[in-house]
Amino acid sequence: MRRIIVAAAVLAFLALTSAGSALSSDVTVYITRTGSCYHTAECSCLRSSAMPLSLTDAVERGYRPCKVCKPPAPDAPIGAATAPAETVEVPVVRVVDGDTIKVRYRGKLESVRLVGIDTPEITRGKNEPFGKPAGAFLEALLADRTVLLEFDVERRDRYGRLLAYVWAQGDGDPAPVFVNAQLARWGYAQLLTIPPNVKYVERLRNAVGAAKAARANLWRDIQ
Ligand SMILES: [Zn+2]
Repeated sequence: MRRIIVAAAVLAFLALTSAGSALSSDVTVYITRTGSCYHTAECSCLRSSAMPLSLTDAVERGYRPCKVCKPPAPDAPIGAATAPAETVEVPVVRVVDGDTIKVRYRGKLESVRLVGIDTPEITRGKNEPFGKPAGAFLEALLADRTVLLEFDVERRDRYGRLLAYVWAQGDGDPAPVFVNAQLARWGYAQLLTIPPNVKYVERLRNAVGAAKAARANLWRDIQ
C-alpha cells in the first residue's frame, strides 16, 4: 500500500514538472513545494524547499517570476508539449533496473529497454554508483502500474528486448509522464543515442542538460 502512495505522489509531482519540451536555450529555475513563483538558485524564498525545472516548464505550468529575486522571463516562444503518437498499453510486472522493465505484452512476459538513455548497471554482478537509486526511482514511478509503450524505428534490440519510450499516466492528470526523459532530467541517466531510434533525441538531450545544470545525482560533481 505504501509503495502505491509513494508512486502516486511521485507521479503527481512529475506531472507538474514534465510537460513541454525544453528549449535548447532554456535555463534552470527553482520552485518551492507550495509557492506560485519561480526563483533563481540564490533566492531567500527557497529556504524550505527548492526543486529545479526549466524556465519553459515553469512558465507553461503557470508559475510567475518572483518579485524578490527577479529571475529571467521567457524570451522565446514556449515549445508545445509533445504527446506520444501510437502506443500500446501494457501492465508492468517488474522493474529490473533504471532502464529495463518487465511487462506483459501480447500475453508474454517481455523485457523492455527504455530507448535513448542509459542508467548505471546493477545487474550481472555490477553495482555502479547511482544504479540502485535509478532503479528505485523507476520502481516508485512504475510499480504495479499500467504504462504506454511507444516504439521507434526498431521494435527490438539484438537481445530480443522490446525498445520503447515509456509513458506513465499521472493520477488525475491527463498528461502522461515521459518516463525516459524523467530519468534523464533527475540525473539518473545519460543520453544514449543509437540510430535509427532517434525520435526524442532533442528532448532527452535537453533533459540531461537540465540535470547537469542542477547537478542532480550523476552530475553532482560536474564542473
Ligand atoms: Zn525568488
